[in-house]
Amino acid sequence: VPTRPDVRLRAFSAVVGTLGFLTLFAVLLRSDITRIAESPATGVVLALLLFGGQLRPIVVPRGDHHGEITVSPTFALALALVGPLWLALLVQGLAVVVEAMRARKPAEKVLFDVAEHMLTLFAARAVFCLLTGNDIRYGVPLDLPNELVPALLAGGVFFVVKHVLSCVVLALTLEEPLFSRLARDLPFQISASGVLLSFAPVVAAAVAQTLWLVPLLLLPVAAIHKSAQLAAERERQALYDTLTDLPNRALLRRRMSRALEDAERSGERFGVLLVDLDHFKDINDTLGHHVGDDLIVEVARRLRRNLRPGDTVARLGGDEFAVLAVGLDRPDDGIAVAGRLLDALDEPFTADSVRLDIQASLGLALHPDHGDDIDTLLQRADIALYDAKSERGTVRLYEPEADGHTPERLALATELRTGLQVDELFLEFQPKVATLTGRVVGLEALVRWRHPRHGVLMPDDFLPVVENTGLIAPLTLTVLDKALSALAGWRADGHDVSVAVNLSVRHLTDLDLPRQVDALLRGRGIPPSALVLEVTETVIMSDPSRAVAVLDLLRDLGVDIAIDDFGTGYSSLAYLRRLQIDELKIDKSFVTNVAHDEGDAVIVRSTIEMGHNLGLRVVAEGVEDDETLQLLRTWRCDVAQGYGISVPLAVDQVAAWLGQRNDAMSAFGDRWIAAALAAARHEAGLPFPPAGEEAAC
Ligand code: C2E
Ligand code: MG
Ligand code: MG
Repeated sequence: VPTRPDVRLRAFSAVVGTLGFLTLFAVLLRSDITRIAESPATGVVLALLLFGGQLRPIVVPRGDHHGEITVSPTFALALALVGPLWLALLVQGLAVVVEAMRARKPAEKVLFDVAEHMLTLFAARAVFCLLTGNDIRYGVPLDLPNELVPALLAGGVFFVVKHVLSCVVLALTLEEPLFSRLARDLPFQISASGVLLSFAPVVAAAVAQTLWLVPLLLLPVAAIHKSAQLAAERERQALYDTLTDLPNRALLRRRMSRALEDAERSGERFGVLLVDLDHFKDINDTLGHHVGDDLIVEVARRLRRNLRPGDTVARLGGDEFAVLAVGLDRPDDGIAVAGRLLDALDEPFTADSVRLDIQASLGLALHPDHGDDIDTLLQRADIALYDAKSERGTVRLYEPEADGHTPERLALATELRTGLQVDELFLEFQPKVATLTGRVVGLEALVRWRHPRHGVLMPDDFLPVVENTGLIAPLTLTVLDKALSALAGWRADGHDVSVAVNLSVRHLTDLDLPRQVDALLRGRGIPPSALVLEVTETVIMSDPSRAVAVLDLLRDLGVDIAIDDFGTGYSSLAYLRRLQIDELKIDKSFVTNVAHDEGDAVIVRSTIEMGHNLGLRVVAEGVEDDETLQLLRTWRCDVAQGYGISVPLAVDQVAAWLGQRNDAMSAFGDRWIAAALAAARHEAGLPFPPAGEEAAC
């Protein structure tokens, strides 16, 4: 059953078609075809140019699709101004038909296009003749400058008639208001065809003058072709992934914003799916990048094949893809799409004659159920993906309950944006000392937020909320900047210390981070070796492939990498070895009670030993008392950090603390040396702690 808009569209096409062909026949009937002989060369040359222009359209980048414009309107209008009208109509009609046949356009569309051109040319010519008093049927050379304004006005009419006719069709097809369509297309149309049309009087005058000018006229046309080609190429590079030819993140966002607009009008539901391959890095590493690349290309192909034409698959980088699935009726439809994609990826792959079984994880968020802007939807699909990755090879729909991103916490995320702008974040620094000598080796920067209403917030109060948002990157850069600025001051005062900064999950997937760190270090003139970046093992395990890549880049800079909270995650020792890290920080939960818990003692001791065997510096965090420090020293733990040495200090307390410590070092010296002796005795198999000796110190 045809819908109402369909009926209106057909009616409109029929009216335009009839009028167009009536015009053509009327003009042909009323004209004397032999009158071309008066200016045959002009007519023939313009006709050829018109024909050529129509068949060689210029491809222009227009948002995420490519529009086409032809230079033929310039020549068509020129011919309409100076040639016989019948010739202009006939050649134009023929060119449209030939072009349509080449592009295999449906017959209905061809008839409409021809009619549209007939009406446009006729209207332009009619206005020109009304203003100049010329015979509408036959042309004479332009009388310049007198006829310049009428010629330009004719161009204006040409433009308006064509633009309005095309927009009516589009508005009827897409069921949108005519005026919004007219207004939306206007800037592009003016910049493209408007400019071309204003060139028509020049062409008409030049061709009538001498045909020798024709090659010169073609030069700008060739130049336009060339630059349009370059622009299209550039646009393509900016919006598409080179390996897979899929849209990239930027284009995905554009399409999402269009989907949002469409959904607003039609109330339709759409879904954003994030797809991540599990263990892709292993394949890349063991079988080589070319196999990895082949695999990515094949994954892209399978994703594309299993979606409908209106959907979008984008490659976000590495092994991460996103799918925008539109026109979903129910949430279940989204899950069905995800399930279909998962199945498609489940089939074994063959790359370089190796059979590969790939698993993927998918996270899905829906509009309007889970968010009504691009960032929220992507963020929530990401949360769902992380959820899915914990079980690998599954699809997860975003679940608000499991998210922990309650409205108050989400409000925090919004407030943090302002907080960053007005500088509400500040750092405290906790010293790390060498257990054997007591020397301060560095300080760990710990972020705090002086919140206007809630007072000072600790990292655990707000970091989990921003972890998955775009804010974590600026936050970390702020922390890095503040930490390096403080460090520059202490180093200028002669303290040879380093500073440690914590990184979040997101950062290890951000290939831009190494460059930013490098720039910040250079800006402050700080050697990379004075910066330690702490990452937790959970971070690494959640996406080992990407993490390894980013960590390698950071290490290439010369920055030290520490594994934070070691022992709380599930890192495999193999990764630990491959990761090329410098420091292992044993989690405080094992350290704090080590003096009284045999189990913790075993863990800490063996971790220290393992760390040393891997050539790593071992740090114990959460050292709350001297007894623990003493034990760690005995066990040759390199560095200790904790309330027992110092609580985190405000930045201006640090300088004083460092100074005092230097003064006190000589006094403490004996004690550290005695302790070192104790450690040596222990090593030599003498009893430990040597009774009474400690008291003597
Ligand atoms: P972390 O990196 O393991 O930092 C050590 C945490 O242990 C700090 O808590 C510190 O105050 C606390 N601590 C220090 N000594 C002791 C002790 O002797 N006993 C006990 N029980 N705790 C001790 P804080 O400052 O609340 O930081 C918590 C976590 O927040 C940090 O754990 C780190 O993972 C994260 N964090 C802190 N600052 C930043 C930052 O700038 N960026 C990122 N991404 N994460 C940060
Ligand atoms: Mg840390
Ligand atoms: Mg820690």
